[in-house]
Amino acid sequence: MSERWVYVACTCYRDGLLLSDPPISRSEVVFDRYGNVMEKTSRTPEDDSDEFWDWRSERACIHYNMRFVEEIWDARNWRSDDQVAEAIASGRFPHLEEVLDNSQWFTAATILATPQLAAKAIADFDELAQVIPRIGQLATTPMNWTTGLWPFLFVRKFLDASALTGNPLVGYHSVSSLGFEQ
Ligand SMILES: [Zn+2]
Repeated sequence: MSERWVYVACTCYRDGLLLSDPPISRSEVVFDRYGNVMEKTSRTPEDDSDEFWDWRSERACIHYNMRFVEEIWDARNWRSDDQVAEAIASGRFPHLEEVLDNSQWFTAATILATPQLAAKAIADFDELAQVIPRIGQLATTPMNWTTGLWPFLFVRKFLDASALTGNPLVGYHSVSSLGFEQ
């Protein structure tokens, strides 16, 4: 199954919220630029030993794969709602626009938003939700998943996660690297 996903890595390792110790010495544990915990000797987390991989995905903390949030993502037609398209065209929400534009298409793992951009995009999101109340209500209303609105159901949660953890929003394709699928 080929899908696009977005995640924000958790900070349990950094914050000392582990459920069990890593199978290697802590001096041998590092972070990659996406905020993923990995072995110092690995080029990417996907090179990690099976032992470390199993620990990270199942036992390290309360999050599967040490991801604070993760969802299937499809922002390709995020401008297809007329009201959204019109609001965005006004240029009043440049940071949110940047995040969603970055999220439209990606193949290999990509940083869709730094925590700094995410923080600015949250302010844009809230302002957009004032202009289009449907956006802010998505989480509590049934919706048609074929509309362009559905990225908005998740984007605020991801922006919040990024601003909170200091880790970036990372997009990846399920057949590309950093999917951590074994
Ligand atoms: Zn965690």
